[in-house]
Amino acid sequence: MSTKVTIAELTGAIRNIPDFPKPGIQFKDITPVLGDARLFAGCVDLLAANFESGSVDAVVGIDARGFIFAAAAAYKLGAAFVPVRKKGKLPFGTFEQSYDLEYGSNTLALHVDALKPGSRVVLIDDLLATGGTAVAAVALLRRFQANVLEVDFFIELGFLKGRDQLTDVPVRALVVY
Ligand code: AMP
Repeated sequence: MSTKVTIAELTGAIRNIPDFPKPGIQFKDITPVLGDARLFAGCVDLLAANFESGSVDAVVGIDARGFIFAAAAAYKLGAAFVPVRKKGKLPFGTFEQSYDLEYGSNTLALHVDALKPGSRVVLIDDLLATGGTAVAAVALLRRFQANVLEVDFFIELGFLKGRDQLTDVPVRALVVY
């Protein structure tokens, strides 16, 4: 099966849900992309496109929708998968970092033994909004002196300028609003 997909195809499959989970939020529902085998595979291929298999030690995914893309990309790249989770979910010792969301606030956690110092890491999340989540995740990765090769998003809400918060890492997004 060819997994070549266009950005227009991916964009066309993202469903906008007004006022979810709160009034004023335009929620980008990615389940129609995940529910189409060709679009999902093509989306993962595009997220991992800058890397050869074996050139990345770990793909780090952000709780929860980031896991979907990061785990698939990790498998494709022959890399480990490392979950950054919301506080209270990881059972072992953790580093923690608090941040603000487009709606609410949160704390992210990463197991203290999740990465070796100097690991070559790609960070993936489904969507970049204000950037708070990704900035917190990068801060956690810095605790390991990780070499953050790239931070990849399926979707970027460009008007929220989250990219401007991610000054010290390469940032790439497939679909930009
Ligand atoms: P932020 O920290 O503001 O960049 O928010 C990014 C995180 O919140 C991502 O993990 C997204 O899954 C989620 N998120 C924020 N805004 C939206 C939105 N409009 N639609 C879907 N997910 C969103």
